[in-house]
Amino acid sequence: MTAAPVAGPEPGRPATEADPPLAAYPGTPDGFQRLWTPHRQVYIARQAGRPADDCVFCLAPKVSADDNLVVHLGELAYVVLNLYPYNSGHLLVCPYRHLAAYTDLTDLETVELARLTQQAMRTLTAYCHPQGFNLGLNQGSIAGAGIAGHLHQHIVPRWGGDANFFPIVAQTRALPQLLGQTRDGLRTLWPNAKSAL
Ligand SMILES: [Zn+2]
Repeated sequence: MTAAPVAGPEPGRPATEADPPLAAYPGTPDGFQRLWTPHRQVYIARQAGRPADDCVFCLAPKVSADDNLVVHLGELAYVVLNLYPYNSGHLLVCPYRHLAAYTDLTDLETVELARLTQQAMRTLTAYCHPQGFNLGLNQGSIAGAGIAGHLHQHIVPRWGGDANFFPIVAQTRALPQLLGQTRDGLRTLWPNAKSAL
């Protein structure tokens, strides 16, 4: 009776005398295909909540104004354009402190987050006349937070017809203006929004 061929290091090739014993491989072949995604480990490490040197929301306000997408710097929080916007003018309000939970904000930070959100809505209204807004906080990666370790409030301006077939059919969003143009326009108009408080 002939012994069943033992799987070799490559799928579909029987082992030979020249191959090391199976125990030398890190696991037993099981017929599954693997999609190796080492970049995910970097992403996962960022979600661990540690004050990461490479946290984009910690770094953004420290970069020179010409190189960042920051629209306004407040006392305890700041406003920045989302690099991956759902819509033109999609803003994020972030505390300077690296914290994840809305419940960890101090009272002063909570007030400033709310005031900057109002200022952002007024500035966007003056700049591009949206017909509505979506405001929201995604708390935790399970709830959709892309960068869960650093709290950020979304402000998404909305217009009639902006939820067209593009995102549904083609996973594509139509964005009529470049981020740098939007940033410059909002920076120019922001002082007016502040004086309205
Ligand atoms: Zn951070």
